Amino acid sequence: MLRFLRIGLDDTDSKKAMCTTYVAAKLLERLQREGYKPLDYPWLVRLNPNCPYKTRGNAALALTVEAKPAELDRIVDAAVSIVKEWADLGAEGTDPGLIFAWNNQVEGLREIYWRALTEILEIDEVKERCDELGVHYITFKEGRGVVGAAAAAAADPDSLATYEAIAYRVPSKWGLERGVEESSVIEMDKKTRPYTFDNYDYEKKEVRITPHTPCPVLAGVRAITPAHAEEGLKMTRFLEPIDFYVVFRTNQAGDLHYVPARICEVRPNTSYIVKGRVYSKPTTIPGGHVLVTIEDETGRLTLAAYEPTGQFRRIVEKLIPGDEVLAYGAVKIKDSDLTLNLEKLAILKLAALMVRTAPKCELCGRKMKSMGREKGYRCKRCGVRRPDLTPALEQHERKISEGVYEVCVSARRHLTMPLTIKSLLRHHKHG
Ligand SMILES: [Zn+2]
Repeated sequence: MLRFLRIGLDDTDSKKAMCTTYVAAKLLERLQREGYKPLDYPWLVRLNPNCPYKTRGNAALALTVEAKPAELDRIVDAAVSIVKEWADLGAEGTDPGLIFAWNNQVEGLREIYWRALTEILEIDEVKERCDELGVHYITFKEGRGVVGAAAAAAADPDSLATYEAIAYRVPSKWGLERGVEESSVIEMDKKTRPYTFDNYDYEKKEVRITPHTPCPVLAGVRAITPAHAEEGLKMTRFLEPIDFYVVFRTNQAGDLHYVPARICEVRPNTSYIVKGRVYSKPTTIPGGHVLVTIEDETGRLTLAAYEPTGQFRRIVEKLIPGDEVLAYGAVKIKDSDLTLNLEKLAILKLAALMVRTAPKCELCGRKMKSMGREKGYRCKRCGVRRPDLTPALEQHERKISEGVYEVCVSARRHLTMPLTIKSLLRHHKHG
C-alpha cells in the first residue's frame, strides 16, 4: 500500500479576510514545488453548519501527498510557514489548527469526521485522540482549528462525492466588487446542469457562484464530476483576471449533516430529519415567515419557513392538519421553544381536505342558508325551512402534491443535496 500523509487544515480565515481554501491551495503549490506528489484532489470538507465558531460555511481542508516518515519535519515546516504567511492570524477568532495523519492513522480519526458533521467537538477531546494515535498536530492561538483539521483529514472518501472548481482573484482585487457577467452564468448553468448545480437562483435572479465576502475567492462552480466543475468555470465570463484556480473534491450536497430523530430527541444547533403529522394550520407571521406545528407520538415541534426560503413557503402554507411530512432542517431555540428551520420538506401523505358546507335544497338544488348555529337551514328561493338539517362535508381538491420540496438556491446550505442531482449521486450515508 502506498504510504501517504494527509494534512488537515482549518480556521485560517476571518470574517474580514482570507479563505482556508486559499491557504490550502498555497500549501499544495509549495509541496508540489518541493517534489511531493498529490494523491487526490485537495479536499474541501464541510462540517456542522450550526457550529457557533464557524467563519462562514464551516469548511476545513485536507491535502493528501505521497511521503516518507523521514520527510515529516520538512512538510510540517512548510505548512507552518504557509499558515504564518497567509492566515488572518491578527483577527480575533482565527485559531488555526494543522493535523498530519499517516495513511494508517486516518481510520482512527474517522469517528471525529462523522461527529463533526452533526456535533460541536471539544478541542481537548480531539487532541487526546490524536495523542492516543500518535498523530502530529499544531495549533495556533486558541487552536480551535484542530477540530476541523482532524475531521477533514479523517473524512470518509466515500462521502466526498462532489467537486468544486474555485477561481481566485489577483491580490490587488481583494475586497473590491467582483466582476462576473451574469448572463454567462445563466448560459453556463443551462448548458451544464444537472452536472453542475446551485450556479444561479432563478427565483431571486441572483448569481450564486460568487461569494459576497472580501476573501480571495472569485467564484466557485459546484459539480458532480471534476471535469464539469472545470468546464463550468471556463464557460463563465469574468470581468477581471483569474489568478489561478483549483478543483476540490468535497462532501457538499450529500445531506450528511442530518440526524434522523423523533421530536423528543431534537436539540438546538443540530440539523435533523423529523417525521410527523401536521398538528395545526400554518400561520404567516410579520416578515412573511410561515410557521406550522407537527407532532409525533413523543411531542410537538414548530417548523419555520423563513422569508429568504422564497416560494417554498407557498407549499408550507398549504399544509393542513393530518398531512404526513418529513422535515429537514436545523433546530434552533426561539422564545424558549425549539423551532426547526426548514431546508427541505417531503410530503409523504396528504390528508383529505374536508370542508363543512351548507346542504343543497331538495326542491331547487341551490345552496341553503343557515338559520343560525345548530338551527338548521332554509332555502331563500323556495322558502323551505329545515331545522333538522346539519352541514354537509365536502372533499375539496388539495392545491399541493405529495413529493419533496426545497428552499430556493440562495437559501440552501452547502451540505444540503439539491433535488436536481439526487438521481445522479450514489447514496452516501453513514450508519
Ligand atoms: Zn329551494
